[in-house]
Amino acid sequence: MQQTIDRFVHSLLLEPKFQFKLNYVEILSFTIPKYNHRELYHGIKDDNPDHVIDKIKNEGFRIPSRSGNKDRGRGIYFSSHGRYQYLWLNHIAPIMICDVLENEESVKRYRSEIGPGYEFVVTDPKLIIPKCVVQYEVTEDWKELEEAEETEGPEEVQNESVYTPPGEFGCPVCDPVFTRCDCELLPTFEKD
Ligand SMILES: [Zn+2]
Repeated sequence: MQQTIDRFVHSLLLEPKFQFKLNYVEILSFTIPKYNHRELYHGIKDDNPDHVIDKIKNEGFRIPSRSGNKDRGRGIYFSSHGRYQYLWLNHIAPIMICDVLENEESVKRYRSEIGPGYEFVVTDPKLIIPKCVVQYEVTEDWKELEEAEETEGPEEVQNESVYTPPGEFGCPVCDPVFTRCDCELLPTFEKD
């Protein structure tokens, strides 16, 4: 499990001046899947994250009734790195680290809007094995962002510091026309 946490911390790509502080890890499963799988991150976006985590523990993941992202469809969203949740939801939100079984039909891969890496949309909850819940803090970094928010407003700070700008997704179709890339990437499971 330590390796899983280490990979997560590494995926945040924190500059050396920022400090990662692990508040707690709740182990959900030590099962190592028999099938090919990929370790992915799911942020818990809710005012009451404990409730969501309990539901997942008791009932497993569920496909949300509405799409979180109209162009990528209904499904459970994961990312290949922890920066998505860290920069979008911030460190207050707990992160769930899961193994997702490789399945070309029920998993789609897209370019991450918060790079570098990928976003995955899973449409079959049975493919997801939650491993642990991590609650952490990043000091210094977040303080700077809050200070910037005070002077520039939260929207502006988030937009300029977090998202890949149109034209810089690395997509030969979308970049020339400066749109957000929602092209599905194949093969779904490719090494980074
Ligand atoms: Zn594209």
